[in-house]
Formats: sequence, structure tokens, C-alpha cells
Amino acid sequence: MALDPSHRAQTTPDGQALNAGFRHMTREEFLHAGTEVLSFIADYYAAMGLFSTDSAADARGDSSISVSPHARFTPGEVTSVRSLSKPGDLLSALPMHAPSHPEPWRALADDVQSLIMPGVTHWQHPGFYGFFPANASPPSVLGEMLSAGLGVQGMLWATSPACTELEIRVLDWLARLAGLPERFWNQREPGGAFLPGGSVILTTASEAVLVALVAARKRALDRFIAANPNATAQPGLMVYTSSQAHSSVIKAAMVAGLCAGPNPDAHDANLIGPIGLGAQQSGVRLIPVDDRGAMRTDDLQAAVENDVKAGRIPVLICATTGTTASMGFDNIRAAGTIARAHNAWLHVDSAMAGVASICPELRREVWGDERCESLTLADSVCFNPHKWMLTNFDCDAFYVADRKALTAALAIAPSYLKNAASDSGAVVDYRDWQIALGRRFRSLKLWFVMRSYGTSGLQAFIREHVRLAQLFENFVQSDSRFELAAPRGLSLVCFRLRPIAGQSAQQIDAMNAKLLEAVNATGRHLLTHAVLPAGSSPARYVLRLSIGGSATREVHVRSVWEDLQRCAATLGTLS
Ligand SMILES: *Cc1c(COP(=O)(O)O)cnc(C)c1O
Repeated sequence: MALDPSHRAQTTPDGQALNAGFRHMTREEFLHAGTEVLSFIADYYAAMGLFSTDSAADARGDSSISVSPHARFTPGEVTSVRSLSKPGDLLSALPMHAPSHPEPWRALADDVQSLIMPGVTHWQHPGFYGFFPANASPPSVLGEMLSAGLGVQGMLWATSPACTELEIRVLDWLARLAGLPERFWNQREPGGAFLPGGSVILTTASEAVLVALVAARKRALDRFIAANPNATAQPGLMVYTSSQAHSSVIKAAMVAGLCAGPNPDAHDANLIGPIGLGAQQSGVRLIPVDDRGAMRTDDLQAAVENDVKAGRIPVLICATTGTTASMGFDNIRAAGTIARAHNAWLHVDSAMAGVASICPELRREVWGDERCESLTLADSVCFNPHKWMLTNFDCDAFYVADRKALTAALAIAPSYLKNAASDSGAVVDYRDWQIALGRRFRSLKLWFVMRSYGTSGLQAFIREHVRLAQLFENFVQSDSRFELAAPRGLSLVCFRLRPIAGQSAQQIDAMNAKLLEAVNATGRHLLTHAVLPAGSSPARYVLRLSIGGSATREVHVRSVWEDLQRCAATLGTLS
């Protein structure tokens, strides 16, 4: 291809490089805009109350180092945790076409302030109790910034060795901190080859279960083909998880072609099979839960045995420790024993709760035993520092007992990526451990976080949230208008208004929905709801208080309780 001469770098009279119509920021412009962005984030976090106040620094006058005075670019006042935008508000304010000429930084900064901020829900607000947290922290933001600045692609060891090796080491730090069995550590034989266990940072827990399923399917099919060399048809491949498992398990089965998805004609999670088969061949069995939200192991065992009898292959059992709706904990040991007996892969999804395992006294609650022995029955386990460990999204820590099972399913080496380091087998190429080829330098932010807070800081952070949840649990139990809707799990409390005499199930559900709307309308807090199964009675609508914000303290939890009480009183007079 011939180069168009007009694209060649030109030089202006003052010696500046000019690429016809193309121009980067100057270093000074970048520093100025960058300082404004950092200052904006600092002001935002200050408004959230996220910073510690350092009295020593104040005394030295260091705290006067402020970059904001000149900046018109500020986050503005936060009047509501939840964005009050209506559908289409931002779309109608944005131009239909990209700008044809360069725009100044000032124009962008102004638009962030006036257009973007009103459409932002404040996940870092101390009154954010919705879903699960996605907490961030100053060192994590700096790690993210550095990762963006270096702009590294870490698909292979050779494409940036530090990206792979830092990831290996911080994941091992985390494995030891969380008490994970050695089978999940990255270790080498004296000769240099890696032992089977290993770990990788994936985008999300959703990617983790898909990766686990694909590895499990390959392992199961290889075994089937070895035992049935003349088989002409593939048997049904089955996944088992509880009715309270995260939707990502069903989605993984949909993506992997084991299941076509939810039945649009059914109100419950009735699934239909691949190629138009019915629920019986759906590929996913949703096992009922007990009244603590844990998968019923006897039902799991019966489902697996039934399928085996019918010639289907149990591929993957996904146990959840810390269900999303109510923080129920499946029995890993029981699920693992069934998995072992039928050669199925046990994946443990501990997206939120697994992080709490860095506190030894919480391990029994998370894994069922404080020495994490049940995890020796697992083939893979994951948790999300991006939920509850001060590391901004995305960062899922995925641990696998047999790295070869993973790479057997995911490795594919086009010739243009061949290199001596990969061929030697002495390095890890993480593209073979995930769905995508390209990957970001995510370990930087985790490294920054783990070093900046230290183990003691991270543990104190988790313990404080669990303490605040206990406090809130006591508040609920001390007010006869309210009740706990599920046992408190770590930092999650599910609760609701009790039905009053004569109130139907629908009426009390509607009353609780009104309470949720009223407390969120204060703008000071954001809670979300869940619909929990209730034995043989109809499922109940409940409120969830999920504590995990980087800035959430006791005053905030007391404040949300006061507002809940006040809103409940108002609703009471209306009904
Ligand atoms: C939040 C959650 C997920 C999904 O996490 P992502 O990282 O967003 O995919 C999966 N499983 C459980 C139990 C969760 O709580």
C-alpha cells in the first residue's frame, strides 16, 4: 500500500510536528486536563466521605495541596444516590454525529458535569446498599489509571511479561490470605514445570462460570469419547445449580449451547433445552433450596442419578456460597461428594462472600469449615475483589485445580502469536485461560490495593461491614413492625414489614414495595429488593440492605434505619 504523502508528518515553522489535521494534546495540556480529572475524582470521593482525614498531614499543611481552585470541573452536589434521569434524557441531549473537528478539553469537562453526572447512580455513595457493592478506592483508581496509561495487552507472557507475572503473584497472595487449599496455588516443580493448580484474573464471575463450564464440558466429552469410541451421537450434557444461583450460570449454559434459555411461557425459571427440547432435556437443572437458601443436596443427588440413568452426562455442578438474593450458602462438601462420584466438575461461585474468607473467623460461614477443607473437592472457585475488596470493576479472581483442563478447552495458537517463550512451556499465556484474546493489566490495581491497605486493613474493612450488618439486624429484630426475611449472611440483611392482621400476601408485598420506594425517594440511600422462596407459601417480596461501600460507616446505617422507621410510620397511617 502506497503512503499518501499528505499523511506524512509535517513540520511547522516553529518545529512542531503536524500530521495534516491531526494533533495530540501537548504534555502540558495533558497534565492540566489530567489534574482536573484527578481533582474531580478527589472532590467526588471527598463528597462521599471516602477519605481518611490525616491530622498529621493537616498540621503540616499538606492537606492544602489542592488542585481544584481553578477547576470549574467539579462533581456538584449529590442530591440523590440513585440517578433521577428518565429514559432518553441523555440520548436527547447528545448530538447525532461525532464532531468533525477537534473539541477543546473544556467542552468535554463541561459536558461531563452537565450531561453525564445527572445520569450517574452513585455506587460509591455511603448510602448505596443496592444489589452488591462495586466498591472502589484511591489506590485502585491509581492502578487503573496506570494500566490505562501503559496500554498493555497481556494476552501472552511475551506481550508484556510483568502483566502475567504480577498477576500470578497477587493471586497467590490472595489465595493464601483467603485460606484456599494449596491445590489452587501457582507452584512450580523443582525442575521448573508448573504444578496443576493455578489462577487468573477474569472480568467477572459470569465469565468464570462460563470458562469453568467449557473446561468441564471438554473433560466430560473426552472421557465419553474414550469410553465410547464408536458413539455417533452426543449424550445430553447437564449442569446443576440451585434455584437461587446467579443468572450467569444459566447464561453460561445458554452461551455454551447446553440450554436455549428460559421458557417464555413459564412464570418460574422453567428452562427449555437446546434445539427445541423441553424442560426435561433443558441441560440445566435448577435444584430447590431449603429455608436458609441452600441447595437441597438430596434433590441434587436424585437429579444427577436420574440423568445418569437416562444416559445423560452430569458435566458441572455450580455451588453458590453467598447467593445474590439472600446470601444463602450451599453445602460444598455434599455437592463435591456428588460431583466426585459422577465425574462432574464442581465450580464454587463465591462472587461476593469469598472475599470475606480473608478473615479467618468468617471462613466457616463462607465455605462450611474454617480450614477450607471442603474446597479440596472443588475443581474451581471464584470471588470478586471488585465487589467487596476496594478494587474497582472489573476484577474476578478465578482459581482452578487443574490448569490443563482449562487450557485444553481454551488454547488455540494462531501462527502469528507463536514465540519462543510460549514454546518452551516455561511461561503462562493467559489468553488460554479466558474467552477473549486481549487482556488488560488488571493485577496492577489489585497489587496497589493489597499493598496500600495491607492485610490488616482489608480485614478490618470487611469486619466493620459485618459488624454494621449485625447492628442493622438487631434494629430490625427490635421493632415489632419488621422481621428478618432470611438469616443475615455476612453483610447482607434481608428484611420486610410484617403482615398485619388480615393482610393478604399481595398486600404485604405491595406495602414493602412502597416502603422501598419511599426510602429510596429520600435520596439519601439506595436499597434494592429480592423475591425469596418461602417453602410451600408464595414467594415473598423483601428489601435487601447490602453493606459494602468504601465510605459506609455506622452513622449511615443508623440513618437508613431511622428513615426506614419514619417511612414505615407514614405508610402505616396511609393504609
Ligand atoms: C454478583 C454475583 C455474580 C455476578 O458477578 P459478575 O462478576 O458481575 O459476573 C455471580 N454470582 C454471584 C453469587 C454473585 O453474587
